[in-house]
Amino acid sequence: MEKMNCTEKIAIFPGSFDPFTTGHESILKRGLDLFDKIVVGVGHNSMKQGFFPLEKRIEWIKELFADEAKISVVAYEGLTVDFAKEQKAQYILRGLRTASDFEYERAIAQMNKALSNELESVFLLTTPELTPVTSTIVRDIIRHGGDASMFIPQKLDKSEFHLKNAIAPQK
Ligand code: ADP
Repeated sequence: MEKMNCTEKIAIFPGSFDPFTTGHESILKRGLDLFDKIVVGVGHNSMKQGFFPLEKRIEWIKELFADEAKISVVAYEGLTVDFAKEQKAQYILRGLRTASDFEYERAIAQMNKALSNELESVFLLTTPELTPVTSTIVRDIIRHGGDASMFIPQKLDKSEFHLKNAIAPQK
């Protein structure tokens, strides 16, 4: 039976997801055990171009979780706390890989808490084998014509993750 809206635990999972990797997939799937709903927020900045177009990044995540009713995917711009409010979320889900991730995430989470005291950030530690997976390295591999398929979620069409789909040749 569906739960009452007021008791629903809703999390946002914000990120650039440029592109979405096996690391992101793992965090999101594990988050399903904790929350009733997770809204993946694909953050974009109109002043800063990504590597893959926003539409593609969203399309890939939607395709991957097409059968998962608890997950939705939307674009957002602006403050993450405002996006969380818009989505009626009480939680921000993030993944942690390394000590430097921790320092970065700590600062963001504490600032978010200062901006919106009722929002809680929840962190899941990466599974050991996914620790080195980063979108930055995946982009580098693609940019130089390498095979990044092992870092892309299995269900997705690997040929899509190609320079031909990138916004423009990046320096
Ligand atoms: P941002 O640009 O906001 O850092 P990313 O798309 O790089 O967004 O990452 C979104 C979230 O996923 C972050 O919390 C990041 O730490 C987490 N993440 C990225 N890669 C991994 C991974 N391999 N294992 C666990 N968490 C990860």
